[in-house]
Amino acid sequence: MYIGGLWCESTSRETLELVNPSDGSPLADIARGGPADVDAAVSAARGAIEGDWGRLTAAERGRLLLAMSRRVLEQADELARLEALDVGKPLRQGRADAVALARYLEFYAGAADKVHGQTLPFANGYTALTLREPHGVTGHIVPWNYPMQIIGRSVGAALAMGNACVLKPAEEACLTALAFARIAAEAQLPAGALNVVPGLGEEAGAELSSHAGVDHLSFTGSVATGALVQAAAARHAVPVTLELGGKSPQIVFADADLEAALPYLVNAGIQNAGQTCSAASRVLVERPVYDTVRNLMAERYRSLKVGPALADLDLGPVIARRQQTVVERYLQLAVDSGLPIVAQGELVADAPEDGFYVRPTLVDHVPPEHALAQEEIFGPVQVLIPFDGEAEALRIANGTPYGLVAGVWTRDGARQWRMARGLKCGQVFVNNYGAGGGIELPFGGVKLSGHGREKGFEALYGFSRLKTVAIHHG
Ligand code: NAD
Repeated sequence: MYIGGLWCESTSRETLELVNPSDGSPLADIARGGPADVDAAVSAARGAIEGDWGRLTAAERGRLLLAMSRRVLEQADELARLEALDVGKPLRQGRADAVALARYLEFYAGAADKVHGQTLPFANGYTALTLREPHGVTGHIVPWNYPMQIIGRSVGAALAMGNACVLKPAEEACLTALAFARIAAEAQLPAGALNVVPGLGEEAGAELSSHAGVDHLSFTGSVATGALVQAAAARHAVPVTLELGGKSPQIVFADADLEAALPYLVNAGIQNAGQTCSAASRVLVERPVYDTVRNLMAERYRSLKVGPALADLDLGPVIARRQQTVVERYLQLAVDSGLPIVAQGELVADAPEDGFYVRPTLVDHVPPEHALAQEEIFGPVQVLIPFDGEAEALRIANGTPYGLVAGVWTRDGARQWRMARGLKCGQVFVNNYGAGGGIELPFGGVKLSGHGREKGFEALYGFSRLKTVAIHHG
């Protein structure tokens, strides 16, 4: 682990084994951080704020982030390889994540010295103004599915605002988080500004979320863990940003440009083997074009290839045996419920037997209230749901406990606005989905998908707090 600018073992000397999801083989042993290590990391972060890091100007912080961004880009191929081995992510997708990390750092480097307070019209004889200040020590608990992107959007924004970070990567995938610490050291980020403590959620994660020395927490992960983190943080009244799960829809109206929609309809469901918080796991299609869309998607599904991450196919494995079992259970439920499986992708013949592979699967005519249309599967499974008209589309789209992202496909301009306004979620994409990652676009959920916003300029407000000053000068 990386604490106070030094590489160290865990205090307990215990380790965790990482597994390569492509073949089930042991990949690496990493330090298993516990409460004493988290405590040391929080102290190191506090020391950085009171020391060299805290004395830097915003422009100097920006320059350091830019230096980190350049190094990430230079090392993008190596980072992609680490992610392929650790997460099972096809190389191209890992490389795209590394490029996104570099872009986040570049964006927040440029923004660091452009976050202003305001002067406020107030009573005569006063000058009143607001100051934007860092929270102090920020805790970042991240999942395994997009480590680099999530580190970029959360740690990048927090550092830009002058916070000192304690990052707890997921126990399943830590290698790029540790590589990121090495890159920060190479770029001369002052010691303690970034600390990385890998470890189990219930040990290192629980300690970080209940630690009295943490001033702000950013959690990305499941709903159940997010609730635990928020409850733990509440004991010290620590503000929390929660980026949780989703069951996001893409809504295809009969007047849509289907040719343009098709790649998005499928890719947004199967990218990263469906293990994406904003995966478009529901595809709602207006009845007049339902059969056409289903047939086009089915054709694409049949061409999808699944195999080892280093083979760089359409899909790699899912993260763990446990996750493979979860997805298989949902597929069995589809069969047991009599739901037609329209099409599946193909597992390549030389895929290692012990890898955690799941064939991407398209399921037909799923009732909106069925578990497959309500629950986050976190695997490459998409459900097709027919609808008639805007009102029903909105009712189905909004009818889950989640509200993260939605896509709308229609050529009707007025309908685009009505849908954008009517959808209960954090982001709406019209005639696209995801806007290519959209680093500049604020992101976050409503309902069980969480609260608070990361990405874009908005994140800089989340990773800072406002102080009001009123000076009476007569
Ligand atoms: P998870 O909640 O199991 O783990 C996430 C992180 O929390 C890991 O670092 C884990 O070690 C830690 N953790 C586990 N128990 C903890 C505890 N008791 N206290 C503190 N920390 C603890 O989630 P996961 O299965 O790794 O990730 C998948 C979930 O993440 C999905 O629901 C997905 O939708 C969500 N996700 C959301 C976003 C988003 O931006 N909204 C992005 C990616 C993933």
